[in-house]
Amino acid sequence: MLETLFNPKGVAVIGASGKELHIGNRVIKNLLDFGYQGGIYPINPKEDEIRGIKAYKSILDVPGQVDVAHMVIPAKFVPMAVEDCGKKGVKHIIINSGGFSETGPDGADIEKAFLDKAKAYGIRIFGPNCQGIINSDPDVRAYCNFTFTFPEPGHISIVALSGGVAEVIHQGFSAMEVGTRIYASNGNACDVSIPEIIRYLADDEGTRVIVTYVEGLRDPMDFFEAVKEAAAKKPVLAMKAGRTMEGAKAAASHTGGLAKEDMATDLIFKKAGIVDFRDEGQLINAAIAFGSQPVPKGNRVGIITNTGGPAVIATDILVDAGLTLPPLSDKTRALLKETLYPEATVSNPVDVLATGTAEHFGKCLEAMMADDSFDCVLVHFVTPFFMDTESIANAIAQVNQRQIKPMVCNLMTDRRQWAETEAILKASGVPCFALPSDAARALVALVRYRNILDREPGRVRSYTDLDTDGAREIFNQANGQPMLAADQVYEILEAYGIDVPEWRMADDIDGAVAAAAAIGYPVVLKADAVSVVHKSDMGGVAVNLADAEAVEQAATMMTERIDARDLRFFVQQFVPGGREVILGAKAEPGVGHLIMFGLGGIFVEVLKDVVFNLSPVTDAEAREMVDGIQASALLDGVRGEKPVDKAALVDLIQRLSKLVTDFPQIKELDLNPVMAFEKGAVAVDARIGLIC
Ligand code: ADP
Ligand code: MG
Repeated sequence: MLETLFNPKGVAVIGASGKELHIGNRVIKNLLDFGYQGGIYPINPKEDEIRGIKAYKSILDVPGQVDVAHMVIPAKFVPMAVEDCGKKGVKHIIINSGGFSETGPDGADIEKAFLDKAKAYGIRIFGPNCQGIINSDPDVRAYCNFTFTFPEPGHISIVALSGGVAEVIHQGFSAMEVGTRIYASNGNACDVSIPEIIRYLADDEGTRVIVTYVEGLRDPMDFFEAVKEAAAKKPVLAMKAGRTMEGAKAAASHTGGLAKEDMATDLIFKKAGIVDFRDEGQLINAAIAFGSQPVPKGNRVGIITNTGGPAVIATDILVDAGLTLPPLSDKTRALLKETLYPEATVSNPVDVLATGTAEHFGKCLEAMMADDSFDCVLVHFVTPFFMDTESIANAIAQVNQRQIKPMVCNLMTDRRQWAETEAILKASGVPCFALPSDAARALVALVRYRNILDREPGRVRSYTDLDTDGAREIFNQANGQPMLAADQVYEILEAYGIDVPEWRMADDIDGAVAAAAAIGYPVVLKADAVSVVHKSDMGGVAVNLADAEAVEQAATMMTERIDARDLRFFVQQFVPGGREVILGAKAEPGVGHLIMFGLGGIFVEVLKDVVFNLSPVTDAEAREMVDGIQASALLDGVRGEKPVDKAALVDLIQRLSKLVTDFPQIKELDLNPVMAFEKGAVAVDARIGLIC
């Protein structure tokens, strides 16, 4: 569908202008200067030619085929112009002009009006209020965009709503003398969407890596599906901004997009398999490495250096990120002992010394590429004035060209004096970074993608022991209630196979005593009323009640303390001695539910040691959650404490995920605490709030 947008045979500019500083002039200049291979058709009722090209009064007068029409005219004229484009058979319209939904309801009306017309003619709209597209393919060279960065052909493609950030990233590549493939910035994105472009780029052979920038997702699930598919084929690198409230506000107020909850976007990124970044500089560096290097098979790094300190800086970063520096194999060691100076360090990192020659670098690199101990190589290369650094660069470039394993280079030099050395490396596609930490982080990004490819997605478990109809009946009865009563909650948990201690509801004190006798002592008594939220804060929980007298006393006290007409008593078996954990779910509009797991008590309140995922949670993800909290060692048992039944918790997370997936009307659900034992886990307190 987007093939002709990115490979147009002819481009018209409606609103082409004779004035140099006008967008309608700049787009024509860009097409010309970039060497666009198709026909260029300025449309302007008053001009005969613009920038030396024949202009037409109307798009209907254009003799050739027009695949893409730019519109650089006031918003109110756009619907009419779309009509003309329809008659002409234009396939895509890039609307650079603003004045649409981003400005308010009147603008939104115009946006709807032209979109209706476009749909009637089967025209796809790119934008409005956008920059446009660039395709650097030598057969196309379409610069349908009003910016000013002219890319060399490359393998990195950029897609973002925000033209400002897309262009910053683009300039980052340009500053590093790295080319790009396709650039797309679609502003309001009223029709052609980011997920649609990502799908196109996933199948575009020339694109090796997709880079995107997000300020909030319009259609989170569409984005998720598109990225998930794309990330299985090639790396998708992304950065999200608007993490602070102030940042989110700035995002919400431009291009009409709405920044959603930060957490959900992070989880979508993770679940879809995005390599995510919080810093645009690191994103740019990583993309450069992905653009020219193969994906490593694992996380083992070999380092070659001709100077000591920088390799130490890099090693810290690599090891912190979970990469390893294994020793050289015996074969490599023997070979290097023979090849390098006797004073050279023959271990990992290998220090070939400042006097290391092109042969030393070349042989060492080749040995590491052949050594099964390594998955990727980091080269620290300082350019000593007494060495033939161009020969060294050639030796590195030659090994790189064989693309056996990924390599990145920390090139430490005065770029003006050693321009040729740098040019040799860059021409062969060696990613060169001035700082050791930048080179190391780019390598870390390559390994992060490997880990994404290798991770076990797991399965969403299907359960056969659920009473879904029973649960549905309770939800139906509760229609309009913001909060379920305790008996409703526990019946639902039981219907979903979630273990709870034996319980009964009682309407009065006598009933509570009778219920306790039926359950068997010791019991716990809890006050249940709509107004009672944190029961223990209001004196509404009495644990370890040993006999009828204790129950009667506790119930009497609760009646005195809690002034609620609807007060009832929830009587529950007392289950002491477990490790308290918390599970929760929260509805996230347009996404599903966030699922939370953590240790209970002070761990959740003070340390906030909780992890999240998105429903539906797979078995592998549930396991990762249980293992993922910082205090996870406590679950395994420390200093003689018994471990808890992690398998039961993993099962519980999945049952909870299933429950909220089946009943999207659940706004929030808390199991706080769940008592985890050496065998089994039991929810002793539960709340379910509904979307009303
Ligand atoms: P709330 O969270 O509304 O204050 P809970 O029902 O969670 O009330 O009870 C408070 C605390 O009492 C729990 O965190 C737990 O430590 C303990 N508790 C509650 N029910 C039981 C039970 N059935 N067995 C053992 N301990 C319990
Ligand atoms: Mg509680």
